[in-house]
Parts: sequence; C-alpha cells; structure tokens
Amino acid sequence: MNHYFMKKKKYIFLWSLFGSIVLLCCGCGQKEAQVQQKTDTAMGTVIRQSVYVTDRNSSVTEEVMELLRSLEQDTLSWRLETSEIYRINQTAGQKGTVNVSKELSEILERCQEVSEKSSGAFDITIGGAARLWKIDEGSADGAGKLPDREELTQAVKDSGYEKLSVREGQVSLPDGMQLDLGAVGKGIALTKIAALLEQHEEVGGAVISVGGSILTFGSRPEGGSWRVGIVDPADTSANIGWLELTGQWCVSTSGDYERYVEIDGVRYHHILDPKTGYPARSGVHSVTILMRDGLLGDALSTACFVLGAKEGMQLAKAYGAEALFVDLDGNISMTEGMEQYFHSFQ
Ligand code: ADP
Ligand code: MG
Repeated sequence: MNHYFMKKKKYIFLWSLFGSIVLLCCGCGQKEAQVQQKTDTAMGTVIRQSVYVTDRNSSVTEEVMELLRSLEQDTLSWRLETSEIYRINQTAGQKGTVNVSKELSEILERCQEVSEKSSGAFDITIGGAARLWKIDEGSADGAGKLPDREELTQAVKDSGYEKLSVREGQVSLPDGMQLDLGAVGKGIALTKIAALLEQHEEVGGAVISVGGSILTFGSRPEGGSWRVGIVDPADTSANIGWLELTGQWCVSTSGDYERYVEIDGVRYHHILDPKTGYPARSGVHSVTILMRDGLLGDALSTACFVLGAKEGMQLAKAYGAEALFVDLDGNISMTEGMEQYFHSFQ
C-alpha cells in the first residue's frame, strides 16, 4: 500500500469519526432538519417552496398549494365564477348592498386605506380598465392593438375607490365598477402561508415565493440568514443584489417586466395609473417593499410604482416599510432602513 493511500484512508477514518459525532449530537438534541422543495403553479403564477422540516412525512408543501388554490377559487379571482370577488363584481349597479365574508371585508377595508394614503395611486376599483388591456392575452385584440380610447375613458370614470362603499361586511359597487385584487393577492397569500407554517411544529424555516412576492419564515437549520435576490429589471435573468434577512418577512416587487405587451415598439405593462387608465410612467423600472405584512407590502409596491421614487419613498416611510427603487436608467435609491438589508452586486 503506498503512502498516499494510507494517508487518504486515515483522513477518511477521521472524517467518518467526525461525521458520526456530529450525527450523534444532532440525534440526542433535536431531530435532523431536511429541506422539502416544490415548484408548482397557482394564482396564475409560479410557486417555489423550500421548507425545512424535521418530519420527512410532513404534508406542509401540499397544504400550502391547497391554501393558494382555495384563496384564488373561493375569494380573490375576478375570473372564476366560484369566487366572492366575481360574485361582487356581478352586482355592480344593483340597488342595495351585498354581504361579504369577514375576511374579504377586512381585505377591502385595508385596501381602501392604502388608496386614501396614496391619493388613489393604488386603487382596486380599476378592474374595468385593467380588463381592456388584456395584457395576459397579448394585447387588446391579441394582435397588438391598444384599447379603444373612449372605452378606456369610460372605464376610468366608472372606477374610483371613493365610490366603493365597504362597511360592516356590506359592499356596494356603482354601475360599471369592477374590483381587481391582482395587486394584493400574492401578499395576502404570503401572510396566510406564514400562519399555516406556524401551525406546523415540524417546520423550522422556509422561503416561499408566489410570483415576485417572497416570504421568509423561521430560521435555517444550519444557522445564518436568508438571502432574497432582487431581480435586475433590465435583465431579469440576473440579480442586482440581495436582501439578507432573519426571521419572518414579506418581500414584494412590482416591475414593468412582470407582465406587458409590446405595441409598435412601446412596452405597455400591467401597472396602471388609475387617473388615466394607461400604464404608469413614473420613471420606476421596479420597486421592492420589505415589510412584515404581506397585503400592505404588496399594495405599497404597486402604489410606489405609480407614485415614483420621490413620493413613493414618503408613502413607504409613512407605513414604516422599507423600499428600494430601480429607475429606468438603472439607478438605485432606497430608504435608510433598507441599507442594512441590501447587498449590491455592483
Ligand atoms: P404583480 O401582479 O406582477 O406582482 P402588482 O402587485 O404591482 O404586480 O399588481 C399588478 C396587478 O394589479 C395588475 O395586473 C392589475 O390587475 C392590478 N393593478 C394594476 N394597476 C393597479 C393600481 N394602480 N392599483 C391597484 N391595482 C392595480
Ligand atoms: Mg403589488
């Protein structure tokens, strides 16, 4: 046996001894954590889960998918006839009010508050205008046509959060108004997922993304913090940096690259200025909000996109949220508090 092999054998022995000691230590303390990974689709977007569990038979990732599907089907979708929002939209223009569930009533009230504080930059009553753009179908006629200007003007007139009445579980929609919770659905989902994970004793930590909204939960079994990448809005295959986070956070990003149609070389994206019905042009390429609360974080990311960096920064501060803006020239600006979390690749 040559010397090299002897040495290698010795190392293998020492490493396996070390390994057994580590395993023994884990065994006598807590059960060893392992990661469950799952990628699937729900709410019209991709869901990515990395959940650290101490029980390999845990069904938590499937339960997360069930939660998302029922949130969409029973409550939030404007498309599915089974949802409460769909049902409410059907009653626009009818006399009297409709009963809504406690959960949805609270959601609507919180949305209304963000609308007031953002002077209408965030407005869930823009459903009519949003539908005319048909961005998901590739443009107003599927062949690169803008929506009809008159129809869009009418849809803007029919919208307006001040005209939506939400009180004590009763809602009434004026004629022509259509609700669209697309700007907050993912954030609402994240907070509900966090509550579900909380109920699972076997879950020590998780990172779950619902489209561009990301939840961090608990801690990594090997210690250290979570790293959440911030996409470069000019090249979505790359990141401009990352947020270093410990514990529970919701990270919501609104960008003009998420969903858009290109007509005559102009990009028309899916975040509308409620005052005009046209895609907001505020100089923002993307904005990321860091907050504990999912609904607020998601609502604020949309509001800040519409308002632009200067006013958006004020709004974020008023809510105690951290914000990071990337403008159309690639310049980054952020709230003071964000500096402690953000690490740049540049
Ligand atoms: P994403 O859905 O890509 O995460 P947002 O959270 O910004 O992006 O939400 C955009 C969606 O919200 C649009 O697809 C539309 O349904 C709706 N929406 C667009 N503009 C507004 C607005 N100003 N206020 C509220 N909702 C909006
Ligand atoms: Mg949003």
